[in-house]
Amino acid sequence: MSSCQGCGHELVEIGLTIDGSRIVMRSCSTCDTRSWHRDGDPVHLDGVLTDLSAVPTRYRRSLSS
Ligand SMILES: [Zn+2]
Repeated sequence: MSSCQGCGHELVEIGLTIDGSRIVMRSCSTCDTRSWHRDGDPVHLDGVLTDLSAVPTRYRRSLSS
């Protein structure tokens, strides 16, 4: 498990499959920092994130229950 670069809090990892690629979102519940990794490599999904903005929200909601 990784730690947040901003606050050191433990990160939550959420795996998604997007366009056949394995995407992992690491999210900090303390400061809401997110990072994305595709097949183990960091990725910047600036444009994609706009389209996917509903996905992490839905997963985060389910995780917090
Ligand atoms: Zn944090």
